This record gives sequence, C-alpha cells and structure tokens, in this order.
Amino acid sequence: MRQRLTPVPADLTGTVVTPGDRRYAGLRSTYTTRGTPEAVLLPRTTAEVAAALGYAREQGRPVAVRSGGHGLSGSSTNDGGLVIDLSALNRVEVLDRATRLVRVEAGARWAQVAAALAPYGLAISSGDHGNVGVGGLATGGGVGWLVRSYGLTVDHVRAVKVVLADGTVVRADADREPELFWAVRGAGAGVGIVVAFEIEATEVRNVGVAQIAVAARPDGSTLRRWAEVLRESPRELSTAAMLLPYGSSTVLSITAVVAAESLRRVRPLVAPLREIGDLLDDRVDLVPYPALVPTAHLHPNVGQQPNLTTNGLLAGMDGGDAAAIMRAARGRHRALVQLRSVGGAVNDVPPEETAYPHRHQETLVVASVFPPHGPGALDAAWRGLADRVDGAYVNFESRADARTFGRAYPGPTGERVAAAWRRYDPDGLFRAPGRLPDLTASRG
Ligand SMILES: Cc1cc2nc3c(=O)[nH]c(=O)nc-3n(C[C@H](O)[C@H](O)[C@H](O)COP(=O)(O)OP(=O)(O)OC[C@H]3O[C@@H](n4cnc5c(N)ncnc54)[C@H](O)[C@@H]3O)c2cc1C
Repeated sequence: MRQRLTPVPADLTGTVVTPGDRRYAGLRSTYTTRGTPEAVLLPRTTAEVAAALGYAREQGRPVAVRSGGHGLSGSSTNDGGLVIDLSALNRVEVLDRATRLVRVEAGARWAQVAAALAPYGLAISSGDHGNVGVGGLATGGGVGWLVRSYGLTVDHVRAVKVVLADGTVVRADADREPELFWAVRGAGAGVGIVVAFEIEATEVRNVGVAQIAVAARPDGSTLRRWAEVLRESPRELSTAAMLLPYGSSTVLSITAVVAAESLRRVRPLVAPLREIGDLLDDRVDLVPYPALVPTAHLHPNVGQQPNLTTNGLLAGMDGGDAAAIMRAARGRHRALVQLRSVGGAVNDVPPEETAYPHRHQETLVVASVFPPHGPGALDAAWRGLADRVDGAYVNFESRADARTFGRAYPGPTGERVAAAWRRYDPDGLFRAPGRLPDLTASRG
C-alpha cells in the first residue's frame, strides 16, 4: 500500500489542498485532463516554491508543475502525485517604462498581463487565449496575435528566476547561467520551475482586427492563396485561421490582427485576404490589445476540454501540403485544423539562439480530435501531413514522448536540450513518465 503523505513543514502551512478540501475540485484538473493528485501545493513566494519542491521530493511521488493549467498534454496534473500550482504567484510589474521591461510571475494568466500593461501602453504578444498561463507558454515558445511583427514570446525574455530541482534559486540571463537561460526559452519544462520572467514588452495600444470567412476549396487552392498573401504582406499582419465544417463544404475562418493604430493602415493590409475565396463574412475593427485576450476568458480548469492535439510547421505551402491539410479537416474524424502564421520577426532570430529552433517556417498547422475520437483518429487525420511538416512546436502537442521531443527539438537542439535537462535536473524529477521523455540515458 502507498505510504500516506507526511505532514507539511511549518513553512508550507496554509498552502496545501487535499481531496477533503472544498477548493480541491477547482484545483485537481487542467483544461484538458481530469486529475486525482494527492495534494495540490499553492506556494505564494519563491521560498515557498522551493519548500514545496523539497517536500514533494521527500514524498517520492510524481510532481507536476502548473502555471495556467492549459497545457495540452495534461502534464500539469497527475493521479496520486503532487501538483505545485503557481497561480498565487501572479504579479505583473513594469520595471522600467523607458526600456519597456516588465516582470511577470509565472502563475499569471495572459489576460491579467494584458490588463495590467494596457494602462502603460504596453503589451506582450503571447497566445490567443486569456486563460493560458505565463509559465507554460513562456517556457515553450509563444505564438501570439502579433507574432509576425513581435516574434515569439520567448524572443523577448531577458531574464528568468528559476527554482532548480534541488531547491536552489537561480537568476539566469544572457550573462549569468547562459545555458539555463537558453534552455528556458523553448524547453523550460525540463530544467526547473520558472517563477518569474523579465520580458521586453512592446508599445501597443490598439490593434486592427478583421474577421474574415471564406469558402475553402477542397483542392487546397484557398489555403495556398492564404499562405501567399501572408508571404507578401508586411509583418504587421498576423493571422490565425480555422477550417470549420459547413454542411458538406468547409469554411476558412480567419482572424487577422494588424499591429497598427489606424483603420486607414489596417484595411489595405487585410483586403487581400478577402480575395482568396468566396467571401462569407467580413468585419474590421480597431480594438485595445486586451480585447484579444480578455479577462472574460478567465475560468477554472476542470478537465472541460479533453482533446488530442498535434502540430507541424511548414516552410512553404505547395499544392500537396494544402491538399493534405484539407483532407485532415474534411476526413472522417473531422479533426479541427488551425493554421497560424509564423515567420516574420520569428525568423530574424538564429535557430541556435534559443531552444525554439524553428526559424525558417512560415505556417504552423495544428490538428485536434475530440472524444469519442482518440489517438488512432488523430494519427489517421495527420497521416497525410506527417511527412510534409518540418518540425513541431512543443506547446501544441498532447503526447509528451520521445517522438514529439525529436520533432520539437531536432538535431543539435535536441542534444543540447537533453544535456541541459540532465545538468539542471540530474534525477529527472521533472521528467516523470507522461510528462517529459527521459532522454538523458540515451543522449549526451
Ligand atoms: C485554449 C488554448 C489556446 C492556446 N493558444 C495558444 C496560442 O495562441 N499560442 C501558443 O503559443 N500556445 C497556445 N496554447 C498552448 C499553450 O502555450 C500551452 O498549452 C502552454 O503550456 C500553456 O501554459 P500554462 O501555464 O497554461 O500550462 P500548464 O498546464 O500550467 O503547464 C503546461 C506545462 O508547462 C510546464 N510549465 C508550466 N509552468 C511552468 C513553469 N513555471 N516553469 C517550468 N515549466 C512550467 C510544465 O511542464 C507543465 O506541465 C494554447 C492552449 C490552449 C489550451
């Protein structure tokens, strides 16, 4: 029989939620996954994070780290283990308005970050949903609404404060602990618990937003034109698009965001997107940046959205790529397929500068299936794309296995990530099965 948890030390009093506690129902699960951890620890300070980690180590149970709980692999909860939930560490502070340097704690949600920075005329391009947490997104990449003009979120991280597996607290930046700083920006889940990020924000008040829906031709020609428009457009334009079933046809629903303060600039930039297929809907507005990741998105995570997701990157979009994407969306399992523009400023950063190495691709393709469909359905939907894509973004993957690792961190990046994970977490505390692959035995 499993040993009971030992009593928490005095310095963690008041931070532990166990199944008998009425708060447990709102803390046990993530967005995608229902969990049954034996305890959820809610540290309020860096010292408490270190103490929580020490306590978790002593219990010899799996340890999950959670910031916002939106991770697609569900690895921020577990069954029978401990969860370190950083939601009480959620401060957002402007350190220096002149250099736009802000400090964001890992447990904040991106809606809270946007709301806190808006009065300063600043924003950090992060993701498309306000409830996503800072910690998971900013350690994996960060494909945000302004991705082509701003780059990835990790590209603007200037320093991090990390609690390592042995409880040591380290500040890492380009000069101090540069290898840790490198790994945190793309492969941070395996090196420690990042408690705070210093990030260079950008000057943004309003942005242009267009909602455009066009009929997507099954032969993929509409998608090719979408990719062509993006390739020829200035980087102020970023788009996220979804392929949605519409009777027996398919609609490409595009949200285009323009990093510009006037509709006179916004309208001509989105106009070519209206021409890529038969237009079904079309609206253009100027909105404050927080309207893209509103606090209305904030909600507790109770396993409400189970799904299986995979993704891949494309450098171009030839006829075969576009037709394969359409087949994935229109196949028997009706995978939900999303396209995100990347490229632009993302590709200004050399591949070896961060642990996110994908710096020549232009499109991110994400496919999800929902219950009752399972892994077989996702594989069937993805089959036509599997050999076409070039790398993957770790944060849009449900399966935290060695194959995912190889696609997210190909070649020398993978060697370097595995070495960093082993160096900063020699006992594999953060690499419990199903959480991160334990590659340290097989890699240098
Ligand atoms: C609805 C939805 C929309 C999304 N939209 C976008 C998007 O537009 N762009 C984008 O780039 N991504 C997007 N994502 C993916 C998102 O980046 C990842 O799911 C990310 O991991 C979520 O971060 P979190 O803190 O909420 O997750 P959590 O579930 O809390 O964490 C996920 C994993 O990240 C690691 N982790 C979390 N916090 C820390 C920390 N402080 N230190 C070290 N490791 C940590 C842990 O391994 C943890 O298991 C979206 C996901 C969802 C579900």
